[in-house]
Amino acid sequence: MTKLAVIIPAAGSGSRLGSRIPKPFIELEGSTILEHTIRAFLNVPSLSEIVIPTSKESVGRVEDIFKSLDREDLKMMVVEGGSERQYSIHNALKCVSDEIDLVAVHDAVRPFISANLIEACCEKAVGVGASIIAVPAKDTIKRINEAYLIDGTPDRKFLWQAQTPQIFKKEIILEAYESARSNGFIGTDDSSLVEQLGYEVGVVEGDRRNLKITYPIDLKIAELILKEEI
Ligand code: C5P
Repeated sequence: MTKLAVIIPAAGSGSRLGSRIPKPFIELEGSTILEHTIRAFLNVPSLSEIVIPTSKESVGRVEDIFKSLDREDLKMMVVEGGSERQYSIHNALKCVSDEIDLVAVHDAVRPFISANLIEACCEKAVGVGASIIAVPAKDTIKRINEAYLIDGTPDRKFLWQAQTPQIFKKEIILEAYESARSNGFIGTDDSSLVEQLGYEVGVVEGDRRNLKITYPIDLKIAELILKEEI
């Protein structure tokens, strides 16, 4: 069976949320956002490894979460993150075991991913080499210039919003991260590093519940989802 490792970057601050507690460690309905996110992956049969990059101060909190999961069958590791999301993930990638076939990267602050979507994304990654979850853009997207004037309106039917998980054959993501480091390329997602090398990346249509908790309104929506009010 295919062996999956998931890297869950959790080294970000809560700055856009206006919180002193880093976002992944904010509690929602009795558990931290990070715990909700990890639990979503525990229902995926091919999962064999979890690697979480986080800040030095939060390493102990992640170790406590690992202990509470009671999953001796999984290899669980915590590593120190970096100043950029990409550096955090690169540190985690170095810990992934040799026997792993697929590496998923999933934001710690997207707790509502379903096991079905993770599995659909894995299947596509096995076929194509790389695959991401995305949803069609619902707003018209404008390209603007530095003077805040519109520079163009790309056709919305070709615009999709990238989410996570983003899943890759291990050798592809390792090559992409090494190449990005040598070229000084910083992307806003993992797929963009793989695209730089010319590899194809498949897309699996996701679900709007898979929101990224970023702003205070997202926390309110997350509470409603957990209470099953929406
Ligand atoms: O900041 P942003 O919303 O893009 O963060 C997405 C994910 O990346 C979050 O789960 C955050 O904790 C993580 N991150 C990280 N290291 C950083 C910045 C963000 O692991 N330096």
